[in-house]
Amino acid sequence: MLHGWCAWLWIGFGFLQVSLSTAAPTSPKAPRAVKAAKALTTDSQFIRVHVKRGKQVNISGYGLNIDSRIRFNQYKKFKLRCDSEKKNGEIVIKSLGRFRSPLEFRSKSGFLFVSGKPYRKLLRVIAKKKKCIVVNISPLERYIAGVVAKEMHPAWPMEALKAQAVAARSYAIANMKKPRYSDYDLVSTTMDQVYTGATGEDSRTLLAARATRGLVLRERREVLRAYYHSHCGGRTDIPKNVWGRSESGYISVSCPFHKRHQPQSVWRHELPKSFLQRKLKSLASVLPQSFRELANLRVSKNFNSNRVVTVTMADDRGNSLELEANHFRKIIGNGLLKSTKFHIIDRKDSIEFKGSGFGHGVGLCQYGSKEMAERGKNFKSILKHYYPLASLRKLY
Ligand SMILES: [Zn+2]
Repeated sequence: MLHGWCAWLWIGFGFLQVSLSTAAPTSPKAPRAVKAAKALTTDSQFIRVHVKRGKQVNISGYGLNIDSRIRFNQYKKFKLRCDSEKKNGEIVIKSLGRFRSPLEFRSKSGFLFVSGKPYRKLLRVIAKKKKCIVVNISPLERYIAGVVAKEMHPAWPMEALKAQAVAARSYAIANMKKPRYSDYDLVSTTMDQVYTGATGEDSRTLLAARATRGLVLRERREVLRAYYHSHCGGRTDIPKNVWGRSESGYISVSCPFHKRHQPQSVWRHELPKSFLQRKLKSLASVLPQSFRELANLRVSKNFNSNRVVTVTMADDRGNSLELEANHFRKIIGNGLLKSTKFHIIDRKDSIEFKGSGFGHGVGLCQYGSKEMAERGKNFKSILKHYYPLASLRKLY
């Protein structure tokens, strides 16, 4: 297994020297979090994370090194433009000239800034479709620590943070093995996992990453694309019910651990129909041309798990449109419709949504795992509960 892992990294990241040696030694007197941080910084596995896209981006740092060809000793800030008509992409740096894409930036200090926001190790800028795509190539375990700090509250129990670290690592590695994007492994938003670079680092999540270093969930001999969410509302769900596509490795499990608390457990919103009508503007291309004002809205299909599959909206002339619940949730706002586990009460001028849970409901429930950790369960028990078909494997 280790051999396969090594070979895969070599294929994926031919530009990086990959070794399976353990992290650099640290002083025995160093505090635990400092040791963990140091070990993660010197790690030898890397992930490519999309962090910015724009016609123009600013990159700065102390002791910048551009493509190992141009070096500066002092602080420098550069404005990059990628709006060239050239097919293979061209990057223009004000005051330095024109460069072929991609372009790599390192710095003596180890920190590089993208529009003032610090990232570690290496930035790669790719010019594509007249946009600069900025990719942070970060030590994988550093990235995991950063993700855990953003996806879960760093003050939560350590065993919950460790369970989150294993889930985040599994998700990352599954995506690295089967990338969905050509120039990077993941994006840094809720589309994949939230990552804000060095500003997101936290001593407790560094410890959680260090304590579970290399551990992933596996199912059918493959690393599980481990989904997780904030609050399941009492029962988790399977990908088929939520996104309409089958993915192995998941069964629905009950989650009685968070009944007593949390505002996400149940929620309700009464929204004026005029507000919904404004939100539906983005559907102009798919709504029937003669569609007038929204007159009524109903759930047209439910799963057994009580999650909504589709909603149907209609005007007063009988024009109607059926929409996937996930799409509808995105249009209205994920913060308002916290999950697709809701029902609708259609009033004269408003629609009331009554729901439970927060997020898609697949895989690990974060509030449930917090409660389990508070009751003394360790991260392995937490993972076993939410991913009962998967087993743990240490990859490195
Ligand atoms: Zn739950």
